Amino acid sequence: MKTVSGIPVFNGDAISNAHGVVIGKVFVQESERLGVAERTIPQDKIEDEIKRYRIAVNDARAEIESNRDTTSESLGQNLADIFEAQILILQDPRLLRETENLIRDKTLAAESAVAITHNAQIEIFRKLNNSYIAEKINDIRDIEKRVLRRLLGTRSESLRKLTEPVILLASNLTPSETANLDRNYIKAIVTESGGLGGHTAILAAALEIPCVVGCGNFLDNVKNEDTVIVDAISGLIILNPDEITIQKYQKIIKSGATRIENLDEWQNLEAITLDGTKIDIFANIEFPQETSNALQRGAEGIGLFRTEFLYLTQESDPTENEHFESYKRVAEAMQGKPVVIRTFDFGDDKESDRHSGNVNERNPALGLRGVRLALKRWQLFRTQIRAILRASIYGNIQIMFPLVSTVKEFRQARYSAVKEFMDELEHDEIPYNKKIKIGMMVEVPAAVVMLDHFAEISDFFSIGTNDLTQYVMASDRGNRNVSHLFSSSDPAVLRMIHAAVNIANQTQKPISLCGQLGGDPMKLAILLGIGLKSISCTPSSIPRIKQICRRINIDDCKRIAEKVLQFSNAADVQDYTIREMIKLIPDLMAKVI
Ligand code: PEP
Ligand code: MG
Repeated sequence: MKTVSGIPVFNGDAISNAHGVVIGKVFVQESERLGVAERTIPQDKIEDEIKRYRIAVNDARAEIESNRDTTSESLGQNLADIFEAQILILQDPRLLRETENLIRDKTLAAESAVAITHNAQIEIFRKLNNSYIAEKINDIRDIEKRVLRRLLGTRSESLRKLTEPVILLASNLTPSETANLDRNYIKAIVTESGGLGGHTAILAAALEIPCVVGCGNFLDNVKNEDTVIVDAISGLIILNPDEITIQKYQKIIKSGATRIENLDEWQNLEAITLDGTKIDIFANIEFPQETSNALQRGAEGIGLFRTEFLYLTQESDPTENEHFESYKRVAEAMQGKPVVIRTFDFGDDKESDRHSGNVNERNPALGLRGVRLALKRWQLFRTQIRAILRASIYGNIQIMFPLVSTVKEFRQARYSAVKEFMDELEHDEIPYNKKIKIGMMVEVPAAVVMLDHFAEISDFFSIGTNDLTQYVMASDRGNRNVSHLFSSSDPAVLRMIHAAVNIANQTQKPISLCGQLGGDPMKLAILLGIGLKSISCTPSSIPRIKQICRRINIDDCKRIAEKVLQFSNAADVQDYTIREMIKLIPDLMAKVI
């Protein structure tokens, strides 16, 4: 018997309503490796080779379109959009051009050129070491495989024709593999890689298949037909369990505590607490195409648009017009609801050599990132701000600066940079919203402490609990060695949040919270008790957060918040909050814990 733990894909700060505990036989999905040796072609065959490449791309496109249509019919447009995004990558003019150039200039066979250009793209993403980007890598792999299969004439891989229900274990699943799963035969999915925002998680949730992702390497310890228990509520995988453990989990399954619940009815309701306090619930997005999902989940606005992902998914920077189109699209889709566009936040986990100027930093988290970088890269900043300003007439767009540490920085960003770019537009008679709101992320302890000063110059605040936790606890948010210190519900972090909310409320400046803590159903009462009336979270967390808001009252939240702010450690906060929430809303908590 061996246990492995991963990230459970269920509710709360996660993606799906599908969760549960299952016991079954293993089916290991072997990852397909399409080996491509470097092969050259004669000079006079170059044009034929390019033609062969284009046909392969067209065929791959037809295959993805068919996947998109089937998914759209069975799972809805939102999930079909994943394949829409794949079509965009497949047809990325730069990728096509670079591949054709390799065929032409280096007389490479099409498959060799494809392997090189796709690998180069993957390498760029891999350096970013970020879960969103991991998904993009997965997409590029999926696309590469399709094109290579066409060029090499290999058959399309498919899951073995299953005749009995199994638990599918895989290193990774591509979106098409997940979307094509036969849900009658797949009791659960467990993957070594992947994160909560990943496509496997999103699709597994839509298919209502219990799923655990990001388990790390474990497939060497398991083989087909082994028995496995998947606890997709806590993210625990038990390989080859003993009889006593099987009986224990059979009891849990029997008790019905794992039933699947539908939260759809909650997403269109307002988040109003029992005492009548309205809580604004916004969505965090990374790409414009996520807007429809955010709306469908009941977002009342976009509280955080992480725009750096627009840059990180291509090899050269987006032009002003490309930025503009992205922002206009989101603003129009949101129809007057707030859209908070955060200016690029490269650096640290979202590292990009291209933008940092290859500065080799010993402490990237404490280095040139966020607004610090923007103020050094004037042209990059100018391109983005001009685009945001131009798009501002199409909706309720607001600008937010990341990682602001000093009042001077905010002043420079707002009154030097943005002001100068506004003057340019004015001079060229290009329309923009002159009253556009400009605010900042509160994610550096110095900003919390000095928030009264910031209140004089910032139109609004949004607390970034991911970075705030990293900096308050001096614990790298991506380092497993210190992950025991990285807890956003540590009283030290909660006191910081409390201080920020107090100052914002005293100075009557709107304040929201957009870090991962905002999507955690267990911590919601603390946040409301601290005085927050606005939260921005992953779209999938919105229904559950709204549901809990409608079942609690602010006095209870205040009581819980006051208590936990006095605790000395995160574990006590956790225990106390769980107990109190179970007392208040036992039925809901049974589904969340
Ligand atoms: C945060 O730091 O909490 C935040 C929302 O920003 P990001 O996760 O993009 O750094
Ligand atoms: Mg941050």
